[in-house]
Amino acid sequence: MEPQMKQHHYLITCFPVQGHINPTLQLAKNLAALGATVTFATTAAGLKRVQDRLPAPHGLSYASFSEENVPAGDATAYMTNMRRCGSENLTKILQKSFNDGRPVTCLVYSLLMPWASAVARDMHVPSAFLVIQCAAAFVIYSRFFGGHGESSVSVSIQDLPTFSSCDLPTFVLPENPTNSFMGPMLIEHMQELETLPKSLVLLNTFQELEQEAIKELESKLNVIAIGPLISTNNSFGGDLSEESYLRWLDSKPEKSVVYIAFGSLVVMNKEQKIEILHGLVQSKRPFLWVVRSSDNEEEEVKKMVEDEMKNCDGMIVAWCLQTEVLSHKSIGCFVTHCGWNSTLEGLVCGVPLIGCPHFSDQTTNAKLVEEVWRNGVRARTNGEVVIKREELGKCLDVVMGEGERGKEIRKNARILRGMAMEAVKDGGSSYNNLRKVIESF
Ligand code: UDP
Repeated sequence: MEPQMKQHHYLITCFPVQGHINPTLQLAKNLAALGATVTFATTAAGLKRVQDRLPAPHGLSYASFSEENVPAGDATAYMTNMRRCGSENLTKILQKSFNDGRPVTCLVYSLLMPWASAVARDMHVPSAFLVIQCAAAFVIYSRFFGGHGESSVSVSIQDLPTFSSCDLPTFVLPENPTNSFMGPMLIEHMQELETLPKSLVLLNTFQELEQEAIKELESKLNVIAIGPLISTNNSFGGDLSEESYLRWLDSKPEKSVVYIAFGSLVVMNKEQKIEILHGLVQSKRPFLWVVRSSDNEEEEVKKMVEDEMKNCDGMIVAWCLQTEVLSHKSIGCFVTHCGWNSTLEGLVCGVPLIGCPHFSDQTTNAKLVEEVWRNGVRARTNGEVVIKREELGKCLDVVMGEGERGKEIRKNARILRGMAMEAVKDGGSSYNNLRKVIESF
């Protein structure tokens, strides 16, 4: 442990969904690995999922800030309860840390928890906002929900292609139903940052990947890029566990398998499942498809899947260790909803992407993949977010085929992987930035 880090104690908090827990917990682990004391806190149910899988490494301990006694189905009641209990309990955790002689020196909070910043302020503890979406999405939020309230249908960020309405995070679109819920939440986040203009904003991206967007953010906020925050306890290319899908992947030729997964929240409708099934089967490529149990309700589809699976070289699982799958040598492409974690994981593993965005920042990420980083393509939809089998087939032919575009995409994917690895290794931009954070907070 380095002497100047002795007093640092980070309280790192997040909303209890997979896409928030994964990068936030990784930040906690990275800080602990650099010698800081870290407490990771989320709700009791979220914490249970973490603790069941991951024993806390040295320097890291777990705490919960809210019992989930309100059904998640009632979003407003759920969020109100979390704000109330969370504020009380985070205050208690901060107080206890003072009483125990290990005072929290910085409270890190993530998306959907703007109230945590107020808790820190009231307790006179510095805070940092961890942005778990790409920097470009955050620029767009800052334009729409920050001081001057942009309301146009397209956004230009210097040196990036124009983001049209189909590329904007869906939360900023006036016609989007989630806007009435997310809009005020994002406004509150922006207001918190404006109240404390010096407060730190940590970005789960890296300088070399998003320099244009980061530059705009730097002109307004105290931002620092420390990503990609990707779980490394599923070691890349290292020992594979005994999971059956990993053994199945072992039996496939290099870069031959299509991996398809839409994260933890997107719910595939019946038509989408049927189209994907036929698209995969018709492609005649081996595939590993994550169909979560909540996706798999209709008997008619179940039967169709059963029948089709007899005639193809595919495997369906309800969940997998995605970073292990993506780092397996048999994977040839990743058909993804373009959640930011999945996008980064594909990028870090050097896997070409086929973006099938549904909502939130997924649209923006798909745009960046196709037009800026050029490590994949975006599947076109029929307007209802359904990707037709022919479109899936076309995209697979592009990214896995021998055409010039496929070759360029695969080359870019390799280059981006190298850049991401460089950024996080000792001496890399994100590694150095995290050290700067530790030196100042
Ligand atoms: N994930 C996983 N196994 C799966 C599907 C997803 O481990 O079968 C993980 C994935 O690695 C990622 C997270 O769940 O870290 C999903 O986050 P993302 O931002 O991609 O999407 P969200 O679930 O928030 O829509």
